Amino acid sequence: MTRDISSVLPLINTIGPYNEVPEEYNSQDSITTLTTSKILVIGAGGLGCEILKNLALTGFKDIHVIDMDTIDLSNLNRQFLFRSQDIGKSKAETAAKFVMERIDDPDLKITPYFGKIQDKPAEYYRQFQIVISGLDSIEARRWINATLISLVDDETLIPLIDGGTEGFRGQSRVIIPTITSCFECSLDLLSPKVTYPVCTIANTPRLPEHCIEWASQLQWTKTFPNKKFDADDPEQVEWMYQTALNRAKEFDICGVTKSLTLGVVKNIIPAIASTNAIIAASCCNEAFKFVTSTNPILNNYMMYSGDDSIFTYTYSYTKKPNCPVCGNLAKYIQAQNWWTLQQFIEEISNKQEIQMTRPSLTAADKYLYLTSPPELEKLTKGNLSKKLQDLISSGEEIVITDPNLPISMRLIVQLSGSSFDPEFN
Ligand SMILES: [Zn+2]
Repeated sequence: MTRDISSVLPLINTIGPYNEVPEEYNSQDSITTLTTSKILVIGAGGLGCEILKNLALTGFKDIHVIDMDTIDLSNLNRQFLFRSQDIGKSKAETAAKFVMERIDDPDLKITPYFGKIQDKPAEYYRQFQIVISGLDSIEARRWINATLISLVDDETLIPLIDGGTEGFRGQSRVIIPTITSCFECSLDLLSPKVTYPVCTIANTPRLPEHCIEWASQLQWTKTFPNKKFDADDPEQVEWMYQTALNRAKEFDICGVTKSLTLGVVKNIIPAIASTNAIIAASCCNEAFKFVTSTNPILNNYMMYSGDDSIFTYTYSYTKKPNCPVCGNLAKYIQAQNWWTLQQFIEEISNKQEIQMTRPSLTAADKYLYLTSPPELEKLTKGNLSKKLQDLISSGEEIVITDPNLPISMRLIVQLSGSSFDPEFN
């Protein structure tokens, strides 16, 4: 998928007053591109509200927004386009309506779509000149990244501006498909989800989090076998908190609070309105620079940290030659000879650079395991208990895919070690 850069470079304009070719600049051109560009905003939440407001005030006239969520009470402290009477309504529709009413410009049109980005075919995205994502879902960001890269041809090169925040930290980045590093290239930069070993949770808790996980993973299912925990139900949260608190007392552990309980069970990343504002502003400035070509664009990754005083740093994140989306080389994966296919899948699917929830694996000449369609799942299920060394040879290349992602990853599996589980030797 890597391509000759020169064939797409004319699609990136560098004629501008503070850009590479100032002498050929004509300000009317900038105004025309700004007012006629079609821009897509993905996400109408914390970042999305800021992005929509900024774009409309900057002079963009044709804005589209996609969000699958509805408004919740807990959004109102930062998602300022929503009011309490909007609770339960579509975020995309409410945000679009609010900004259009507030700006009151007959030329401004914000087109909302209440649904998932995956509902739209890849071709739908070709109509946009630029896409800004303000999402917290990794899966959705991987999907749009891979989709925009798959659209690249002699006329299409849609930059993706990706913003993300986590508490006092955030980043904005400009992804120019096939030219700069992509979202997938930096998948291993994301902070890993914290998990605790089940045996620690069950037998030797040391942290308040262990007690909360014990309540949520083990006690909840035991007490309410057919009920899914609802973190928005105050009574259920109280039960979870009390159960974790009792467990903590038993083991002399301090620090179990209701907010920590909620944080652990919901896997909450705190959202801070002003961090969203900073990151959204940076994303919108890049969109403005892109369509008007006034100034050089961000190359290509800006990180912001307000955790300890304040710090910001911009660097050019390099492409990974073995990126499954924009690279063309396979990744090397180490595996043990005694692993079954099932163990192999469990080991690799949670790796930072893979992160697949329903992986299907195919070798050059056969299916190893397919999660869908059901007929093939049935046909290949038997392989899960077989040893990896009986299915493939060391150094063989396999392809791993996930029905939720438009990505196929090439892995070269290197088998080593004993053929038998060392614990049983
Ligand atoms: Zn990449």
